[in-house]
Parts: sequence; C-alpha cells; structure tokens
Amino acid sequence: MNIIPLGIWGGYPKANSATSSFLIEQDGFHCLFDCGSGVLSSLQNYIALEQLDAVVISHYHADHIADIGSLQFSRIIQYYLGQPSPALPIYGHKQDKEQFAKLTYKEQTQGIEIQEHSSVQIGPFTVTFCPTVHPVYCLAVKFTVNGKSAVFTADTEWSDQLVTFAQHADILFSEANLYEEHLGKSPGHLAGSEAGTLAQQASVTQLVLTHLPHHGDVSDILYEAKKKFSGPAEIAEVGKKYELL
Ligand SMILES: [Zn+2]
Repeated sequence: MNIIPLGIWGGYPKANSATSSFLIEQDGFHCLFDCGSGVLSSLQNYIALEQLDAVVISHYHADHIADIGSLQFSRIIQYYLGQPSPALPIYGHKQDKEQFAKLTYKEQTQGIEIQEHSSVQIGPFTVTFCPTVHPVYCLAVKFTVNGKSAVFTADTEWSDQLVTFAQHADILFSEANLYEEHLGKSPGHLAGSEAGTLAQQASVTQLVLTHLPHHGDVSDILYEAKKKFSGPAEIAEVGKKYELL
C-alpha cells in the first residue's frame, strides 16, 4: 500500500495547496480519502483523473468535500468529449441525507453508504469505519491490505474508541489541529499531545500528523506529539510516498 498526502491543512488551503486528503494505491487501484478544497488540482500531480477508482469521504465539512463537485464536473466533461468512464463510487455515510445525495451525479458518480463498525471491500482494500467525536457525524477509516493497515482519524477530539480502532496500525495519520494552549477550548479536534497519546496507546508503528492549523509553528505540535509517542512521528509531507510493504 502506498499513501501520498495531497493536502495537509484544516479549514482552507494555503496558497497552492489543499486541505486534508490522501491518495491510497495498491496494485494500480487508486482510492482517494477525502476530497477537500484544492484536492483535484493536487491529485493531478500524481495520476490522471480517469485513473481514480474510488473515493471515501469521512464527513461533510467543506474542507473534506469541497472538490467533489469539481470531480463530478471533470467526469461529465470527459463524457461530453466522448471519453466516458464508469460511474465513480463515492463512499460516504448517510447520517446527513442531503449531503449523501450529492455524492451521486448523473451517470458519473455513485454514492454508496458506509456505516460505523462495518467493513466494505473497495478494490484490494478492506475498509472499516469508526465514529469520531466531532461537531458533525464523522468516521475514522482503516484501510487494510496484505496484512498491513493504515488508519486515518479524520476529524475528532479525544476518543477511547479510536485507541481500539487504531490498535497496531502500521501507520496512523492523525489529525493534530490544535496547539496545546487550545486544548479543551476548541471542540472536535486533537492537540499534538493527544495525537501522540493516541499513537502510543494504540501501539502503532508510525505516526503522521495532518489537518494542521494555519497559524503558529506546526513543529511545536510535532514536538508535543513526540513527548507522548516513543515511535517515529512526523508532519505529513505533501507528495511523499508512505509505503507499507
Ligand atoms: Zn470537520
């Protein structure tokens, strides 16, 4: 499994960048996890849009779905140009029926419901879901293939359930949207120390921090995470290929 961060920002993208999203590949199957602002542009640095096989959405905040409309338009334009692709499956939860309905667009994309504590096969990946603690319903996601697993917290504040869900993951992509001084003051997100504690308690092999704030020095967040986690930890790097062999 290869994982490439496409965007690492929460809220909105910095110049020439994107909000949280990852391209996950195995045996030529390409799955996008979340599709926020700037993601469609970033994605084309790595694959052609028609090479995309599936999309998984954690929740319906704009910084995770803003480019779904652009993705749908890219498919309809290719269709009008005489190069149609099969309907692209977009997996999302149905707790917000209005948002879920928007995942289906003409013959171009098809919304498919996912549910907490369930499992679905997406290409070569077995994908499982765990509810997080966030102002809107949100699912953390685990991709497993060939005995290797990658866990994405999506957006969340501290949750004991996530410790169980992420147990022994080979890599944990944890949100770390808060500096320590904002811990407990900004609901729905984790500080660096909490991401580190999550990684430590879940005994993951590697921790990567994402969904970062725009202000301050994010190396401070990594520093706090490293105080809690004894394994390797880093800030997610756009374009870096994280390989699970
Ligand atoms: Zn959110």
